[in-house]
Amino acid sequence: MKVAVVKESAPGERRVALVPETVQKLSQAGLTVLVEKGAGDGAWFPDDTYAAAGATVTGTDDLYATADVILMVTRPDEAALGRLRTGQAVIGMLAPLIDPHLARTLAERGVTAISLDGLPRTLSRAQGMDALTSQANVAGYKAALVAAEAYGRFFPLLITAAGTARPARLLVLGTGVAGLQAIGTARRLGAQVSGYDVRPASKGEVESLGATFIQLTSGLSAAGEGGYARELSAEERDAQQAELAAHIARQDVIITTAQVPGRRPPLLVTAEAVAAMAPGSVIVDMGASPLGGNVAGSVPGEAVVTPNGVTVIGAENLAASVPTAASNAYSRNISALLLQLVSAGDSEARTLNIDTTDDIQAGVVVAHGGEVVHPAVAKLLADESANQGS
Ligand code: NAD
Repeated sequence: MKVAVVKESAPGERRVALVPETVQKLSQAGLTVLVEKGAGDGAWFPDDTYAAAGATVTGTDDLYATADVILMVTRPDEAALGRLRTGQAVIGMLAPLIDPHLARTLAERGVTAISLDGLPRTLSRAQGMDALTSQANVAGYKAALVAAEAYGRFFPLLITAAGTARPARLLVLGTGVAGLQAIGTARRLGAQVSGYDVRPASKGEVESLGATFIQLTSGLSAAGEGGYARELSAEERDAQQAELAAHIARQDVIITTAQVPGRRPPLLVTAEAVAAMAPGSVIVDMGASPLGGNVAGSVPGEAVVTPNGVTVIGAENLAASVPTAASNAYSRNISALLLQLVSAGDSEARTLNIDTTDDIQAGVVVAHGGEVVHPAVAKLLADESANQGS
């Protein structure tokens, strides 16, 4: 079986799906690895390091023409879609709940689409494959550094002959994987850190990192399925925004990470809350997206300074800005999933053994045999065509 690693095409994307160390492991497992020329350049893995690990470095045409499985970090662009053919498989972070049309296009082409972001994360045998977690860890770490860089003062308490600087007050809103890593990193930089989340379980996690948990008096609790948060009702959201505003006004730095799977990110920091912050404050919005983020007025990929002097950074794809660490982790995740899919089948034939009755595969296999097989994605598409029909 030929497994191919492509050069990512999205602007600013510097990660690569497989690093040379993992190429070696896949070769030892009997897979042939092809690498598109320059695929690892952005993450500082030159072509010759792949060749030394046993991969064949080749051009785009040859790669798509001969590969059985295409590995990527994100998703195929238009050019790649044009090259994919029936019987091929694509494994990446395809975000099918956000863009179900891609899943449908891949299904129509007869391509098997496998998306790491559907992995059942609480399953212990899937943890080595959990790319959402590994990439969120990298992004949360970087968010704290981005905030420190933009902040005009120190994070730690500093006592010097030239005076004493008080530590920065930093609040993390949304304390899942990225938020906890941002808390840990900001604490290591010496900031005075607090955290807030709607899932009650997160209180203990925030406190175990030495940060203070902010408990809202409204007692809002929104644990959803699979360890995720559920979307808040309009009343809950209004109460949350109003109560958070008082906490936000006291902070120097805010990092927001809140997400609800398949939904637009919840708005946690309103325009009024931003306006009440002191000049020089910094907000890093990891939820920033074209649909809106966790912070009013955040623009993906840009730093906006508000009239009252608050820098609002729309932090997009932070994991790509720590490309070597992020690629190392992603490479382990994707190869663990790949080997699981292969080993589930006949070990001599080395083909992907698609079986959606398996817990892991039920989560990650989006399209197979010409159909969108993932129930939640298929439902989104069916609802959409029902709405168009009515
Ligand atoms: P995520 O990226 O989906 O969301 C980030 C955080 O935002 C979450 O903690 C969520 O509760 C929070 N959030 C959503 N809406 C909010 C709102 N309105 N106000 C405040 N906070 C809000 O989450 P994630 O980091 O991917 O983690 C989700 C869950 O999965 C966590 O419980 C995490 O511990 C769990 N998890 C478990 C495992 C495992 O068991 N191995 C692995 C990874 C993650």
